[in-house]
Amino acid sequence: MRKLSLANLPTKIQKMERFSEENGVNVYIKRDDQTGSEWSGNKIRKLEFSVQEAIDKGCNLLITCGGIQSNHCRATVSVATYFGMKSAVLLRISDTPPVEGNYFLDLLLGADVKFCNADEYRTSRMEIMQKMADEYAAQGYKPYIIPEGASNGVGTLGYYNAMNEIVQQEKEMGTVFDTIVIATGSGGTCAGLNIANIIKGYGKRIIAMAVCDDVDYFQKVALKISREALSYLVEQKEISLDKAEKLADSLQQTDFEVNDKYVGIGYALSRPEELEHIKRLARLEGIVFDPVYTGKATYGMVNELKPGGNLRTAKNILFIHTGGLYGLFPVSKQFKF
Ligand SMILES: *Cc1c(COP(=O)(O)O)cnc(C)c1O
Repeated sequence: MRKLSLANLPTKIQKMERFSEENGVNVYIKRDDQTGSEWSGNKIRKLEFSVQEAIDKGCNLLITCGGIQSNHCRATVSVATYFGMKSAVLLRISDTPPVEGNYFLDLLLGADVKFCNADEYRTSRMEIMQKMADEYAAQGYKPYIIPEGASNGVGTLGYYNAMNEIVQQEKEMGTVFDTIVIATGSGGTCAGLNIANIIKGYGKRIIAMAVCDDVDYFQKVALKISREALSYLVEQKEISLDKAEKLADSLQQTDFEVNDKYVGIGYALSRPEELEHIKRLARLEGIVFDPVYTGKATYGMVNELKPGGNLRTAKNILFIHTGGLYGLFPVSKQFKF
């Protein structure tokens, strides 16, 4: 498919040996946290498509939004700068933020930063970004707006591809993953995996661990993104128009599972037990998870692997490590050693 080639792909798949033994099930991890360094994490797979579209349209400014410690904003800023484009990010804050983690990197990599509060972000982030775009356009820039998480029809193609990459790796490894577990925040990652699963008939169980909002929210969002993706899949000759039309009618909110039991005390807020869990896994496997997404998702996975949990029937699980390491440093003081 037509896209930029930025991420280090395919990302490795490793078995979590001790974790698997502890839980009596094979758990593998796909290292999408190792897609790069400045643009590490899952967002770069989506940005390969979004920024290709921006370049095709002749744009020279990327505008996007997220929380103050947004991995997506940091990845977008680094890609923009890499291509000699300007970048502007709309960041959601409550207080004056300390210059650290991803926000520090946004500044270091040269982004223009605009702040808004949680209410403004929820109700009118698109309008605010459009206003920013108009102002830059008046100065002569050609802006391209990427929605939160690059979670739209074009961005989600990154995870449509990732699903195909996984199936290719299964063949090379001689393994079949029955279940794929991921963290979900803006829905584009699970939507992409899900459409590939359906179109190619892979028959995998996909479980998205919510880090905010609830089941109904994510199923609606993912369905909307999936429908949007269909026209791009036709354009890229992945599917016929006829097939896309049939899929638009047959896609269901329940095509994959969302688990919202591990949101905890809210987005980007950590409970002590979640941080203990991150510390325990770091010491067990030498793999570091982030507090906002993968820490919560793997905390949920551990709990669902217990008797009575909904992962008990799984045999070969693939957890996709979607990155987020820079977001761990700002919470380092909350850890107990
Ligand atoms: C954004 C993000 C996710 C969630 O991906 P979505 O496509 O937004 O649902 C998971 N993990 C990390 C580290 C992220 O930055």
